Amino acid sequence: MADRKKLVAGNWKMNGGKGSLDEVRAMLAEAPKLAPVELAICPPAILAHAVGEVLAGGPIALGGQDCHDKPSGAFTGSVSAEMWGESGAKYCIVGHSERRAGHGETDQVVAAKAAAVIRAHMAPIICLGESLEQRDAGETINVVVGQLAGSLPAAAREMPVVIAYEPIWAIGTGRTPTTAQVAEVHAALRAGLRSLLGAGQADAIRLLYGGSVKPDNAAELMHVPDVDGALVGGASLKAVDFLAIARACV
Ligand code: PEP
Repeated sequence: MADRKKLVAGNWKMNGGKGSLDEVRAMLAEAPKLAPVELAICPPAILAHAVGEVLAGGPIALGGQDCHDKPSGAFTGSVSAEMWGESGAKYCIVGHSERRAGHGETDQVVAAKAAAVIRAHMAPIICLGESLEQRDAGETINVVVGQLAGSLPAAAREMPVVIAYEPIWAIGTGRTPTTAQVAEVHAALRAGLRSLLGAGQADAIRLLYGGSVKPDNAAELMHVPDVDGALVGGASLKAVDFLAIARACV
């Protein structure tokens, strides 16, 4: 099996402010002790430069939340991948279910955004996951493997991407799938990546689990086969919780 360094990425969503910089400093203070795990923080765009300045040169990476697929232009309110890159970001989250559902983003839109992230020399964190109705109907594997095929940009053949499996019903709900359910989906995603990209490229790609990861369930979830880290929402806002999740990966 390929040697993949676990990644724990914090998705702050539309949360945080200048006061959150103290949380970032607290994360930075502990991060050197967690060297076997890669950490990233994805704040709202308005905080990117401030968080980026605190993180600069340190062991925690900056990540973006969503981007436009064009590098610049008349797109009021949007942020391009290049803009995230200029603020120092190494990653950018695309295809989050809150974007797919709330902003009508299709797999095709997600693939275009992921391609833009690669064009801007970052790695996209491409999110996918099934709804509760789809899980109850036994459609989970078909849905997530279909999203994978539709959301991967052609450039994923050459550049590393990150995939985050996030069951929609687990996001922000406190509910999580069983470890067997996570293992089943991650194995299917790995097999899907191999058939799409070939084993060499597929085995270098990290598959994160996301959805109500907390300090008390992280150890169990992070040691499921083929789970290469976590995309963390609510629990990434507090250094103490985010660091406890990272520690559970070691
Ligand atoms: C997310 O939205 O990416 C997420 C995983 O949220 P939470 O951890 O709060 O469920």
